[in-house]
Amino acid sequence: MKKIAAVLVCMALLLTGLPQTVLAEKASVGSVSREEGYTGLKTINGKKYYFKNGKKVTGMHKIGNYYYFFSGAAKGAMSGGWKLVKGHFRYFDKKTGRMAVNRTVNGRRIDKNGIWVPVVVLDPGHSSKVAGGYEPLGPGSGQMKAKDTSGTQGVATNVPEYKLNLTIAKKLKTVLQKRGYKVILTRTNNNVALSCRQRAEIANKAKADAFIRIHANGSTYSSANGAMTICTTKNSPYMPSLYTKSKALSTQLLNAYVKATGCKKEYVWETDSMSGNNWSKVPTTIIEMGYMSNPAEDRKMQNASYQKRMVQGIANGIDQYIIS
Ligand SMILES: [Zn+2]
Repeated sequence: MKKIAAVLVCMALLLTGLPQTVLAEKASVGSVSREEGYTGLKTINGKKYYFKNGKKVTGMHKIGNYYYFFSGAAKGAMSGGWKLVKGHFRYFDKKTGRMAVNRTVNGRRIDKNGIWVPVVVLDPGHSSKVAGGYEPLGPGSGQMKAKDTSGTQGVATNVPEYKLNLTIAKKLKTVLQKRGYKVILTRTNNNVALSCRQRAEIANKAKADAFIRIHANGSTYSSANGAMTICTTKNSPYMPSLYTKSKALSTQLLNAYVKATGCKKEYVWETDSMSGNNWSKVPTTIIEMGYMSNPAEDRKMQNASYQKRMVQGIANGIDQYIIS
């Protein structure tokens, strides 16, 4: 009875709009988010929060000997799993919430500072020097395919695809490095001849967490526009065990790219006809960023502010794949 009366008084005070000091005194009766001056952990509805001077904190915080993560997206609730915290990838135990240190989680080596550095290999498609001859379509395949092709070219701008691919790859490298990745490019200029198998072997050697092959599309229909991503199939004769990861990478990359650029979303094309994908032993996708055979999309892809969105979109997609 007494408690009910106190709550009623408190509610009445709230309704009459008394000065803040009165509300502060009664705060312990009402909502926890108004805990005046409270510092420490608190469990509300089964979720843990950390209060500092009465306010819920978000981000990474040290409590005692350990670091914990309080998710801004979850309104400050303690959250486990992989997180990107101010340019560093960290892992927080899903049960205890503690940050992992000096440990390997999901095959990912976390250092003494609790940081894991993912490796991304970017492959700017084609080159002005085209690798000649043929190579097997995939490991153990009797089918031969051209080592590389010259790629497409902008119908309006005349810019060759290999040039656009390298421009985007270099900009993407800068953005990804700032986000905590180690980035390797399969080529850094337009005068290197690389076969698709060689490109994949660079990613294999680096044990890349993601191998991103950057391309632009061409079609005989000038109206065709939009982006797609390409991965191997569930029944790939080369690397069927990679399907789930490559599909997830392709899906997340395409979604984030379309969201950032506003271009038309085509689809994730699953095929075992791409030798660079077949020779890869790491999660791989090809992004076809747009159609150079479409005059409007060709011009757009040469526009600096649109390129920024293309790069942000690809980087966001990689982030989402790495964290999920
Ligand atoms: Zn291409």
